[in-house]
Parts: sequence; structure tokens; C-alpha cells
Amino acid sequence: MGIEALRNLPAVHEIIPEIAGKLSGLTPSEIKEAARKGILWARQCVMDGGELPSADSVAEKCIHLGKVLARPAMERVINATGVVLHTAIGRASLPPAAAEAVSRVARGYSVLQWNRETGKRGNRDEHIEELIKELTGAEAATLANNNAGATLLVLSAMAAGKEVIVSRGQLVEIGGAFRIPDVMKQSGCIMVEVGCTNRTHLRDYENAITDQTAAILRVHPSNYLIKGFTSEVPLEDLVALGQKRDIPVIDDLGAGSLIPLSRFGIPSEPTIIHSIEAGADVVTCSGDKLIGGPQAGVILGRKEYLNRIKKHPLARALRVGKLTIAAIEASLRVFLEDDDYIAANHPVYHSFSRKPEELMERSGAIIASVALPSNCKMTVERMSSFVGSGSLPDFAIPSAGISIACPDPELLLKLLRLSSPAVAARVEEGAARFDLRAVAEAEDAELAVLIEKRLAELWA
Ligand SMILES: *Cc1c(COP(=O)(O)O)cnc(C)c1O
Repeated sequence: MGIEALRNLPAVHEIIPEIAGKLSGLTPSEIKEAARKGILWARQCVMDGGELPSADSVAEKCIHLGKVLARPAMERVINATGVVLHTAIGRASLPPAAAEAVSRVARGYSVLQWNRETGKRGNRDEHIEELIKELTGAEAATLANNNAGATLLVLSAMAAGKEVIVSRGQLVEIGGAFRIPDVMKQSGCIMVEVGCTNRTHLRDYENAITDQTAAILRVHPSNYLIKGFTSEVPLEDLVALGQKRDIPVIDDLGAGSLIPLSRFGIPSEPTIIHSIEAGADVVTCSGDKLIGGPQAGVILGRKEYLNRIKKHPLARALRVGKLTIAAIEASLRVFLEDDDYIAANHPVYHSFSRKPEELMERSGAIIASVALPSNCKMTVERMSSFVGSGSLPDFAIPSAGISIACPDPELLLKLLRLSSPAVAARVEEGAARFDLRAVAEAEDAELAVLIEKRLAELWA
């Protein structure tokens, strides 16, 4: 055997009929590319001095390469980090009803911005405004691309060229590029800082009011915690001051929960309803944090301000598309139901409601199904989950999962990150740890197989 074996290499058109049946999801050009790559592989085997691989193994290689080729860049991830709203892997898993709504709207036309009474151009806020009013008691609402955009839009519409008073304790940076002072500057308003990092009093706000003051801004510090000798002015007091001096209060809630998390055994963050009831004039929050919907910024509050916000040129630049509207509508609808329904139909609240015992049982079942190399050990462990996305950064939710002691846990996690689907987990105390809180039950078997395969590749 030698180079002359290359004459027996199959041709692309010969391989395609053999592999096409096994690559049904691929386009014709992807199948052709898979065949071409498989032939190149066979050719290389010969060039490296080996034998020409059999027709079957060339076909098998082509099928494998085709599957790799067809993998979407937006690979699915099994979230075994224990962080339910993990920004790097896309925050919330949408309720199934929301995913269905997206799919339905994506496949055809919808009444997005079409008034069926008149046949003329309508209003895209219509689809979510009534629902948000019903859920929160707000007078009006609109959406922006995300909460960063919502904050920029609200400040631009309400305070460009004027002063906005904000506590030094709330000048936070949230996840990378979102910094309150930068957003305020970008909006064209003049930031008037009051108080100290740890303590701000009502009189600090009061003394800062001038005839140029356009708003008082309150920001939920989210991932930043001030402990010890601290004080913040309650929203109610800011509202009372604002009403006395005729200055609107803007509340950037961040996570923006629609229901008290205490109903799921987690300390409550301030809810959207609380902000509206306390009298905030405009409230902003994220659509993909505690609402558990798609990336969006929800803006709600008094009609007079919402009208101004909706008419601002940035509103057009930051508006959301039909997929987002469909997804947020369906996500919000879940909150019209009781807690049992929410826990069963909303993945974020389903994750919150899992008990450690239940997660231990699932961990035990996964461990029992995995064949382990002799130098690795798997155990069920108690762990700590977190809400994520800046909510309750110091509250550890009692959880459980699988701990794997192995020669190189970092390497194991790297191979799992590169798997399909990818697995996100953590290394703690020298072991690879897989918290099951945010892993869907339906993903358990898949997770077990991925772990077994990677362990076998590395250490069997
Ligand atoms: C998360 C957060 C934001 C940014 O929201 P995105 O939806 O990620 O753009 C802004 N403000 C606060 C207080 C937040 O917690």
C-alpha cells in the first residue's frame, strides 16, 4: 500500500447518498462539505503512511463531521452552576408558553403594530400594557431593549440638560459596562450626587434640590452590598419629598420581581408593586431577571411620564421586536396564576422551589448511572445556590448536587464546556461540583452521559 491507494478515495458525489439519510437536519451544502472533509481526512490517513480507511469508516467520519458542522454557534448549556439567573449563559429559561409564543410569532405575521379596527398603524405597547397594569397597578407601560436601555431612555426623556439627584451609595456598576454615572452622562442629564457611600439622609436630597432639578433617581444596588453603619432613604420618603417639591421619582429596580420571593423561601427583594404603591413615578426593571422572560427593559409608571418616554427619539432606537413582545407577554401571564402554577410553569420559579432532598435524590440517581474510572469519585453533596443577576448576592439557597473528585477538575470542566450541549459547573474545594437546582429534570440523563464520556476520555 502507498500513495497509489489515493486512487481509491471515494468522490464527494459517491459519499453524499450514503450519508445524507443520517444527516437529515443539514442543508445540501453542509452535507457536501461534510463529505469533502471526510474525504480529506481519509486522504490524510494515507499521506501519514496509514491504510486507506474502509468505505464504512469514511462514511462514519463524514457523518460525525457533518454533525459538528451543523452545530449552532448558540450552543445549548446545561446550567449546573447553581446560579439560576446566570448572565453569561442567558439569564432566564423562558416559560414553555413563552417559547411557544416566540415560535408562533416567528413563523408568520402578527398584529405587532397594526390596529385591526382602523387597519392603520397601531401601537406595539398595546399587547403588554394592559397586562402590566393589571399585574402592578401602574397607569402605563412600555418596553425597551433591556434595562440599561430603559434607564438611558427614561433619563433622556425626563431629564436631559437638567439635574438628577442620586445617592452616592447607589452609584453602582452592574455587570461590566453598565455604570450609573456613565448612563446618566450619556442621557445628557447632570448628575447631582448626595450623601456618602454608606449613608444618605432625606435632608441630603432636600438640600440638593434646585430649580434645575428634573428628577430624583433611586437605584437598586443589586450585586453590591453595603453592611454595617448604613442608611438609605426609603422610597416612600423620596416620593413624599418629590411630591412636595413637584419632582418625579425614578426607581431603577434592576431585578424587578412581580411577586414576593419569600413565597419561594427566598428573602424578598422589593417588588414592582411595592414601588408603584409607594408612589414612584417611573419604575424600570429587566425582563430577564426575576420576571424570567426575554431580555428587555420594562418601563412603567405614571401616564404623563410614559407618554413623554414613548415619544422620545431613543424609544424608536431602543424598541423591542415582535419576538420579545410575544415572549414577555406569555412570561407575564404566568404571574396571573397562583404559586403552584408559577412553580410548575415558570422555569425560574421551578428552580427556586426545588428542595435540597429532591436534588439529592436526583444526584444519587445520576451517580448510580455513571461508570467511573478508578481514580475518580462521585458523591452527593449539599451545596449553595444563588439567585444570580445581582439579586440577593449574599443569600445562599440551600441546595444539593454532585461532587466529582478527580485528578484534574479544571480540565474536566473545560471538556464539559466544549461538549454538546455544553455543561457549566464550578470547581470548589478541589472538586468539580454540579448543582442540580437549575438543571431541568429532563437534562439529568444527558448530564450523566456527558460526565461519563468526559471522565472516560480523561482517566479510564
Ligand atoms: C441589571 C440591572 C441593570 C441592567 O439591566 P439589563 O437588563 O441587564 O440591561 C440596570 N440597573 C440595575 C439596578 C440592575 O440591577
